[in-house]
Amino acid sequence: MDHTAGRRQTRPAAVVRAAYRDSGVGTAPSVHRGPGRTDTRYAAMHEMGIAMQIVEIAVASVPAHLKGSPVERVNLQVGKLSAVVPDSLRFCFDVVAKGTPLEGADLNIEELPVTARCRACGHVWTIDGPAFTCPECARGDLELLSGRELDIRSIELRENRTPDA
Ligand SMILES: [Zn+2]
Repeated sequence: MDHTAGRRQTRPAAVVRAAYRDSGVGTAPSVHRGPGRTDTRYAAMHEMGIAMQIVEIAVASVPAHLKGSPVERVNLQVGKLSAVVPDSLRFCFDVVAKGTPLEGADLNIEELPVTARCRACGHVWTIDGPAFTCPECARGDLELLSGRELDIRSIELRENRTPDA
């Protein structure tokens, strides 16, 4: 299928990260997603709050001359430490997007691994499990390089009229 005609990618005017932190959602005390400690009610609220921010920011970042164009896809980067469950976020997004230019839009979620750098020896690695110690020198003094992201990378619009090719 050829979706490229009449579609335009816009770099977001705003990034979710800022709003996300300011909202306090990101600093909410402990989302336990490990086996046996899952608070599903809180979890749903977590994704719902994020979905509302995504819709708000995506709507706000549509350029003025394209206002009203339906959004076809929102490309999102989510770090694995952000405690976001993609399926849950997609569900919340569909609910929140109803009645907005984002209704029916596809939420494309790219999950980013957790990477860290050891402050003691400078080793950089990807953290897969619960162990947060350096595999080289076994120290625990590390700096997180990625894993907490929650960014809108781009928004794809479907233009109703395409004066230029
Ligand atoms: Zn080290």
